Amino acid sequence: MRLAAFFMRAVEPAMLSRVDAVSNNGTPFGTTLMRNLLLSLLFIAAGAAAPAAAEEGLFDLSWREVAKGVFVGGREDALRYPVVANTTIVIGRRGVLVFDGGGYASQGEQVLEKIRAETKKPVTHLVISHWHGDHHRGAFPIIEAFPEAEIITHRFTCAAMADGPERRVEEGEAQLEATYDAVKDAAEKGVWFDGSTLSDEEKDYFERMVADFPTYQADLARMKVMTPTRVIDETSVIDLGGKKATLLYMGPANTAGDIALYLPKQKVLATGDIVVAPTPYGFGSYPRAWSAVVRRLAGLPADVIVPGHGAIMTDASYLEKLAALFERIADQAGALKDAEKPAFDFSADAAVFTGDDRVKARLFDMFFEQPIVSAAINEAKGETEKNEPLDGAPADLCKPRVSEAK
Ligand SMILES: [Zn+2]
Repeated sequence: MRLAAFFMRAVEPAMLSRVDAVSNNGTPFGTTLMRNLLLSLLFIAAGAAAPAAAEEGLFDLSWREVAKGVFVGGREDALRYPVVANTTIVIGRRGVLVFDGGGYASQGEQVLEKIRAETKKPVTHLVISHWHGDHHRGAFPIIEAFPEAEIITHRFTCAAMADGPERRVEEGEAQLEATYDAVKDAAEKGVWFDGSTLSDEEKDYFERMVADFPTYQADLARMKVMTPTRVIDETSVIDLGGKKATLLYMGPANTAGDIALYLPKQKVLATGDIVVAPTPYGFGSYPRAWSAVVRRLAGLPADVIVPGHGAIMTDASYLEKLAALFERIADQAGALKDAEKPAFDFSADAAVFTGDDRVKARLFDMFFEQPIVSAAINEAKGETEKNEPLDGAPADLCKPRVSEAK
């Protein structure tokens, strides 16, 4: 079976909701393993091609002050696996807001250290952009230090963190060793699971991924899913004193609950994974709706755009490219939704997003092209509930720890 088929099956929602029923199909890289790889690589970084300093640790953050009292931390080498999401810290007169406090405990600890180095004010708000673990599972050190801080998510995110998608990722992670063994084997042989030959760059990439596994595993063991204290259903504004943090919700995009952070006065926009550079991820997403959301973000006055992963941007040109990409996919899904084997054409887009870079091309294929097809078809058929299946209704699954604000 071709790798593409594995991916298609792995992201097919019925498979996702029947995790335990999935059995290895007997191939060297069976369905279960493939699903685990998919889940574990769900958050693969696709960031700017900034070369890593040789000594940069797996979870080392670099900081940049993008406006007065607004700091962004991210790992320089955004392509390295596992992915590290960008964190934004906003320091107001009344308190500190953190947007995406970290996916790994080592990251959350660095964010806390940075806050303490910059201000004596307490963290009052931790906003989680969406349910993917690389944006929140390592943020607990911040909450342990500031237990009064509100933890804010969209209602769907709160539900997905409680059950369903988040739990299934954790189940996949529990079996990561076999996945890594298979990746190691493929890298050594120079042949990927679909039979394609790995370039030297790809071999290096996957070998480093394997070498990084013990560090990743040690951090995984420390990760925690927190319970939000406040959920939102629509755009909300938080006055931090001198800085008004707008939490934008514009409908489904990369997930059904993406929140972006916008500081209108400072003209800073942090998008979460609505925008990921240099190539997007396409798991469980909603391309038609996503395209509209990206266009709305692109229309906001912003001098600084902080993507969920990848280098900070100073204009919306990349967002325009993304919106066009998602639209083309949605158009193709509309035309192909009843086809038995829908054949999407990504060739022009792949060239735009990956250039001659074989690693980026591999990641664009695995983490965007493969998963986006079923997501787009579900959307075209009006069956978006299949894209990120919850094991219950959001209102039942989401039980905020303290209060629900409007
Ligand atoms: Zn992410």
